[in-house]
Amino acid sequence: MSAEARVQAAVETAETSAAAVEVEIASQPPRPGELNFSAPRRTAKPPRHLADLSAPERKKALAELGHQGFRAAQVSQHYFGHLADDPAQWSDVPAAKREELAGILTPKLLTPIREQTADAGTTRKTLWRLFDGATVESVLMRYRDRTTMCVSSQAGCGMNCPFCATGQAGLTRNMSTGEIVEQVVAGARTMARGEVPGGPGRVSNVVFMGMGEPMANYKAVIGAVRRLTEPVPDGLGLSARHITVSTVGLVPAMEKLTNEGIPVTLAVSLHAPDDELRDTLVPVNTRWKVSEVLDAAWRYAAVTKRRVSIEYALIKDINDQAWRADRLGRMLRNKLVHVNLIPLNPTPGSKWTASRPQDEAEFVRRLQEWGVPVTVRDTRGRDIDGACGQLAAAAK
Ligand code: SAH
Repeated sequence: MSAEARVQAAVETAETSAAAVEVEIASQPPRPGELNFSAPRRTAKPPRHLADLSAPERKKALAELGHQGFRAAQVSQHYFGHLADDPAQWSDVPAAKREELAGILTPKLLTPIREQTADAGTTRKTLWRLFDGATVESVLMRYRDRTTMCVSSQAGCGMNCPFCATGQAGLTRNMSTGEIVEQVVAGARTMARGEVPGGPGRVSNVVFMGMGEPMANYKAVIGAVRRLTEPVPDGLGLSARHITVSTVGLVPAMEKLTNEGIPVTLAVSLHAPDDELRDTLVPVNTRWKVSEVLDAAWRYAAVTKRRVSIEYALIKDINDQAWRADRLGRMLRNKLVHVNLIPLNPTPGSKWTASRPQDEAEFVRRLQEWGVPVTVRDTRGRDIDGACGQLAAAAK
């Protein structure tokens, strides 16, 4: 089957199964400044998948159903190692057992309902339907030296940042570890099959910068990080250093992450150096102030020896003034930090837009003067609404 035919077939399956879904999955758009830390209570949980389980838990799950424990490692090898999602390819498993084992360990979690490409096919955004009809997006970005999967950790988001499309739609629900991991594995399959221009390849990097606030779905996100970093067949075998977890600054969760002992890259979405402005751009700042968020970031850097990334969307005449660059530079100088400036991707109906080129250049220059490493993020996938802050699957 061609990639297009596969997507088309998937679309049809998704449409039929969505019709059968009775669970109410729509989120409520939040009022200005309103925060939502816990998703509405769910009636049903996503099906349990081997990616939700550690290797010993997989064995146990099989044994409880009367299967031999070693089948867990075989199926895991197919899932994470060979990226073979079709049980017909599991040649070391008796044909008669394949479907049953697949049903237990690799139930279908994500159904692609739309695929969009940009940048000559090297950026691919996928809209996925989850088992209950909730929708999320992920973005694959192939560069010369790496391929990054940008994944969602929640359907929607409760953090209500006014410049972010996802935030404006509200929170639908948390995703499970399996649902998060499966986005990366799906990208890895696409790369392995040579469906992205540049020949067969692998996914090397993962950024939790799709829909959702990863630190508000802590347990599932840590589970996903563990699964992504455990060696094959227990997990996908990625380097923790190539995984970035991005947060609005939920300080207690940042502290927990510091103590996990997993050296992922931590990104903090700062967007303003002063509380007065940050209270409006990142409403959770009314709970944890700029200084508390940065202190938590420096503790993370001290314990993990990892450079913390500060995300700063440059918004014309809102947060791009030279004095704010200086204030930011003064706060960040001599720290283990890197600043990522993101030209604002305007969302539908937004009164805000990206900074003027000269203001962006001056912002960069001032940070450099303070000795702070800084880069301006590229705008991959902008024309397919696949760039930062544009993911709004639930609203479509
Ligand atoms: N909730 C997490 C991760 C998701 S967003 C977080 O906020 O960090 C990933 C990054 O895109 C964040 O830094 C976010 O602030 C930024 N972003 C959101 N909307 C944007 C927009 N319209 N233009 C540019 N960047 C945006």
